[in-house]
Amino acid sequence: MQNRLTDPFELKKYISISESEEKDFDRLEKFFSFGVTPYYLSLIEKENPNCPIRLQVVPRNDELQHAEYEKLDPLAEDENMPVKGLTHRYPDRALWYLSHHCAVFCRFCTRKRKVGSSFETPISEDRENALSYLRSHSEIKEVILSGGDPLSLSDDRLIEIIRSLKNISHINHIRIHTRYPVTLPFRITKEFSEKLKEFFPIFLVTHFNHSRECTDDAKKAIENLVKHGGVIVLNQSVLLKGINDSIDELAKLNYSLVNMGVKPYYLHQCDEVFGSKHFKVSIEKGIELMKQLRGFHSGITIPNYVIDLTGGGGKIPLPTDYLKKTDTLSYEFENFKGKKFNILK
Ligand SMILES: *Cc1c(COP(=O)(O)O)cnc(C)c1O
Ligand code: SF4
Repeated sequence: MQNRLTDPFELKKYISISESEEKDFDRLEKFFSFGVTPYYLSLIEKENPNCPIRLQVVPRNDELQHAEYEKLDPLAEDENMPVKGLTHRYPDRALWYLSHHCAVFCRFCTRKRKVGSSFETPISEDRENALSYLRSHSEIKEVILSGGDPLSLSDDRLIEIIRSLKNISHINHIRIHTRYPVTLPFRITKEFSEKLKEFFPIFLVTHFNHSRECTDDAKKAIENLVKHGGVIVLNQSVLLKGINDSIDELAKLNYSLVNMGVKPYYLHQCDEVFGSKHFKVSIEKGIELMKQLRGFHSGITIPNYVIDLTGGGGKIPLPTDYLKKTDTLSYEFENFKGKKFNILK
């Protein structure tokens, strides 16, 4: 973390940066900080302006274009916040922002309004208030530790929080959302993983977007979690233009994840956050891609394609229409190869 690159002007020491790219770096930083670990930087192809890793971290002037439908807080998380740092949108689960720091600042981040800002760093009083809320709301069965990135906290702090949650009898299980296995896999040590074992089952949802992120180091991190921590590891990806919006890449990514022991959970339609239009893939295309996955590839490799509705509507699945017709007697289905089947009611 100490060796992170946080000045975008230093990028040109490591990868080729054009003058036109560089000219907006100052303005871009006002909207959203820049930051990358040496590890993640090393995955960038130096001379390729379209490298899928580069596109995720190097600021682009496109971010300064704000489409009229884009929002600062697209999921209205700050409105659904009964106590500071906790979003309680769905009846039985709550999302808790433990840190607003991340190893790498992803250019498409939904929370760019606060991620990387030191003003937003939760203090211990915020944590106590959130814990009291969770204790007094017995309908909450799951707490999702999120951020920023919750693994930006020290092992001890994180374990202390998990222990407090485990002591609340109505909490069924705990989930951690983190991108460290992708951006700084060395954070996931054997020692850290072993500390999680006591709290089984811990579900950890990570965030790989491209098969090139599935490196030996990432694989080691996952192995630590699974073998030493008994952690169940899932992945959510964002469908991103020019990064993973092709059938070949999506299939490759999902197979690489399963090969590492990670179950693809969600494929997200990109949230409508300020300055994200250049990452946006149409829903029609997303549905078409999902259609080309299902049936042709192992069901274990297939995530659910979802959109989180702008305005705080929550996540809904984006369905592929296999059910073509229904009448009083039968259903007409189309299978993955386009062949029709009638099934009697
Ligand atoms: C995404 C999200 C969750 C988790 O939803 P799942 O469908 O259970 O993965 C919970 N709370 C909020 C506010 C969310 O945005
Ligand atoms: S790791 Fe997650 S929270 Fe952090 S910048 Fe990337 S998308 Fe945003």
